[in-house]
Amino acid sequence: MPNETNIIFFGAPGAGKGTQAKKISSKLNIPHIDTGSLIREAIQNTTELGERAKFFVESGKLVPDQLVIDLIREKLIVLKDRNYKGFILDGFPRTIPQANALEHLLLELNIKLTCVINVQAPEEILIKRLSSRRICSNKSCGAIYNLISSLPKEENKCDVCSSKLYQRKDDTKEAALERLNEYRNKTAPLENFYRDLNLLKDVNGTKDPDDVYNEIVKFIS
Ligand code: AMP
Repeated sequence: MPNETNIIFFGAPGAGKGTQAKKISSKLNIPHIDTGSLIREAIQNTTELGERAKFFVESGKLVPDQLVIDLIREKLIVLKDRNYKGFILDGFPRTIPQANALEHLLLELNIKLTCVINVQAPEEILIKRLSSRRICSNKSCGAIYNLISSLPKEENKCDVCSSKLYQRKDDTKEAALERLNEYRNKTAPLENFYRDLNLLKDVNGTKDPDDVYNEIVKFIS
């Protein structure tokens, strides 16, 4: 297969997989497909998907499998049609049925996974990180800050584009706890799924984000 890189970023909410996935996607110049952002955008635009997903997202629950499977199927088919170089999947799959559906889709499209980056961090760190996370409200920027470890230079203002920062509705403590609960019950079993396929690369997500990035770069180069 010609120079393709097809990576899944896997990890609990707050592990830092989104930040790293974004950086690796721009380093490799391949699309970053982030189901969480796609679903939030659909909610904002009140599309049919958004209307069906809203309740689940805001209460910290996973949205039904078929909704995300259809979303990813559509994205990958369009992507494969163009000058295909690969993808970064962030936040998908999150359940065993999603992983099985992805396996079928990849087979159908003749795509081979390069690796699954497993960003790990203990729960007490995840809860702290989620409730102190702030995000740039400018969609084309989307920079991520943290009121404990990665403060913006000016309060509530993005360093990159000066837009206002906001807190996601599902980053409140109550919703964050529910998201971790969903992760434990439905997503964590995927670790063994991909370990058995010999694709899982464990990364320590408690380290400085630059060190985490360098570790990931080592795995993929
Ligand atoms: P994230 O931005 O990745 O933390 O995702 C935010 C929310 O979007 C999750 O808590 C779920 O409600 C929903 N979501 C994102 N990806 C998936 C997925 N693969 N399966 C089910 N729900 C998802």
